[in-house]
Amino acid sequence: MPCQDPGIRSKNFDEVALGYTEDMALAEAGRCLQCKKPLCMQGCPVEVPIRDFIGCVVARDYAGAYAKITSSNSFPAICGRVCPQENQCEGHCILGKKGSPIAIGRLERFVADNAAAGAVTGSIQKKGKKVACIGSGPSSLSCAGVCAKNGLDVDIYEAMHEAGGVLVYGIPSFRLPKDVVAREVEGLSRLGVRFFMNYVGGRTVSVAELKEQYAAVFIGVGAGLPVFLGVPGENLVGVFSANEYLTRVNLGRAYRFPEYDTPVYPGRHVTVFGAGNVAMDAARTALRMGAESVHIVYRRTRAEMPARKEEIEHAEEEGVALTLLSSPVCFNGDADQKLCSVTLQKMELAEPDASGRRRPVPIQGAQVEMPTDLAIIALGTRSNPVLLEATPDLALNERGYITVDEASGETSIPNVFAGGDIVTGAATVILAMGAGRRAGQEIVRRFA
Ligand SMILES: Cc1cc2nc3c(=O)[nH]c(=O)nc-3n(C[C@H](O)[C@H](O)[C@H](O)COP(=O)(O)OP(=O)(O)OC[C@H]3O[C@@H](n4cnc5c(N)ncnc54)[C@H](O)[C@@H]3O)c2cc1C
Repeated sequence: MPCQDPGIRSKNFDEVALGYTEDMALAEAGRCLQCKKPLCMQGCPVEVPIRDFIGCVVARDYAGAYAKITSSNSFPAICGRVCPQENQCEGHCILGKKGSPIAIGRLERFVADNAAAGAVTGSIQKKGKKVACIGSGPSSLSCAGVCAKNGLDVDIYEAMHEAGGVLVYGIPSFRLPKDVVAREVEGLSRLGVRFFMNYVGGRTVSVAELKEQYAAVFIGVGAGLPVFLGVPGENLVGVFSANEYLTRVNLGRAYRFPEYDTPVYPGRHVTVFGAGNVAMDAARTALRMGAESVHIVYRRTRAEMPARKEEIEHAEEEGVALTLLSSPVCFNGDADQKLCSVTLQKMELAEPDASGRRRPVPIQGAQVEMPTDLAIIALGTRSNPVLLEATPDLALNERGYITVDEASGETSIPNVFAGGDIVTGAATVILAMGAGRRAGQEIVRRFA
């Protein structure tokens, strides 16, 4: 896949990966063996008919390919860009055993970007029943799509001022352009889905109130409560959660100053803690916001980094440095309580324990001080208690996430469903979409 040159892209927020040309897509699709029993489908959480859509691409029937994909995945332009295909469909492709698997995600993106989406309007027979979704991330959007296509009236209540959840406030536009998400949201609007922004479920509107007005309620509020390190100095000026930093830049469009006047803390020497996709996004964003140096600090080695390989490679190409086998001890501030450095403990990996994992252990006496004026903590997230505390009848598991019936997505409250990160903990877009779709199908079965 052609990409923007690292030296150029590290200074802009335009999409890094430029997409296949038609010739490239045809060449890649032509490699597909069209297996009788396609293993790739087993690796897809929503079972996209991968072999069949690739067959359509080979025949240059792009509208047909789009129809095949959207029979089980409503948002292929998004999934083609952000799904961890290497662990899912592509990880199962038989060609990957001896060489390169088919680049399924790239073909999915090609089809989604090039096929006319063909809005479904008019012909849907209304069923006279209403569904409310709380939150507008991929789980709710997917649930809303299934319900609306089957004649149910859907209203989405979202706490923020823009729909899309992490797709708009977390994942930066250089990986997922905001107009791609907006297009999917517009598609739902054309189906009649109504969006009520700046509504906080549990505060502005309660689940009990919605239950009175709607046949079914879907809760897709994600897991947006940041986890912190718990080391001294973490409350100094200049220490941020990745959530806050990315939300200011992405949702608040701080990168388009002065058109958007969203304040964002300027960092010259930035340190990001964590090694997942969120850490990569935060580091690459800080670089684009003008940082002179960006370090990712992780207490294990590169082999254990949970981020997608491609994201790590892209980050390094752009100039992000990895500081591995290092763990923060404390943040140090100046007289004005502004962050000026972080003390790091050097680590080594111990022999594998009973679980087979090699734990990081401190190397005695090996501490270093790293100058830094902006620290971004990207260690993961937990469930946000706002809606949960206001809904005491909602059963939660021991980790604080909503318990649901696996097949239907129904919670402990009848006709109240939930899905996505608020059920599984922080996971992936495709899993959230799959959960929203399953719940939507159950709501349709009951009310459409
Ligand atoms: C920076 C970042 C990068 C990521 N990169 C990838 C990636 O490359 N690939 C991938 O597959 N996954 C990625 N993920 C994970 C993925 O985005 C999530 O798993 C997915 O978005 C979860 O979807 P969701 O619908 O459950 O919740 P969310 O996307 O979190 O959406 C929840 C929505 O609910 C709203 N909300 C919360 N509380 C309330 C309330 N009380 N009332 C009303 N609305 C509320 C929120 O504002 C939000 O809009 C990434 C996550 C982050 C943070």
